[in-house]
Amino acid sequence: MSDTAIAAALAAIRARIAEACARANRPAGSVTLVAVSKTHPQQAVLDALAAGQQVFGENRVQEAAEKFPPLRAAHPTMRLHIIGGLQTNKARDAVRVADVIETIDRPKLAAAIAEAMAKEGRRPDCLVQVNTGEEPQKSGVARADADAFIRAAREEHGLPVTGLMCIPPVDEDPRPHFAYLANLAAKHGLREVSMGMSADFEAAIAEGATLVRVGSAIFGARPPAPG
Ligand SMILES: *Cc1c(COP(=O)(O)O)cnc(C)c1O
Repeated sequence: MSDTAIAAALAAIRARIAEACARANRPAGSVTLVAVSKTHPQQAVLDALAAGQQVFGENRVQEAAEKFPPLRAAHPTMRLHIIGGLQTNKARDAVRVADVIETIDRPKLAAAIAEAMAKEGRRPDCLVQVNTGEEPQKSGVARADADAFIRAAREEHGLPVTGLMCIPPVDEDPRPHFAYLANLAAKHGLREVSMGMSADFEAAIAEGATLVRVGSAIFGARPPAPG
């Protein structure tokens, strides 16, 4: 999309977020828009920055490591969320590049992230990803294991866990998944609830999302993922 198209799309999404907050009797500033720039070039991020967007999401660490560090010098307050499933061998790169890692979902990864934080001297906020739909192909801790894993991530691994994240099944009503995640976060005293994408962020806000991850509605369609 052109720079003016990205600016217009961002303004439209921000207006819809404000309306969804108003409908839910929530303060306008209670939801942060994470602009998901995966597969889109650095120029698209620059256009969004020029339109006032500060928070971005990428699902691949490698892509984020190429795209973002050069932009930070000129935009020191921008923030990057890693939102894709992480291999343990990418933990150190993730800790180096991210301000928030949204996809902590298993003990091995929690340990690798903790070790990387110690080595890098950097402590990005962490979210625990929950596989609310129990889908075998999807990342995220199972519902039945979520309580124990959230505690272990904080207490055993010492991670700065600030919230939870989910991606509901595409073919289901997302609202029960959103409600479940918001309840689980409240139960653990966690402030961040990352849920809702281009197609369903308003429903997520109604259920208590504090972070919505919106990609295609801002930057346009992506090429289909390989495989
Ligand atoms: C790509 C992606 C998004 C954004 O999806 P859109 O439908 O383009 O808004 C949100 N969350 C995650 C984890 C993603 O990988």
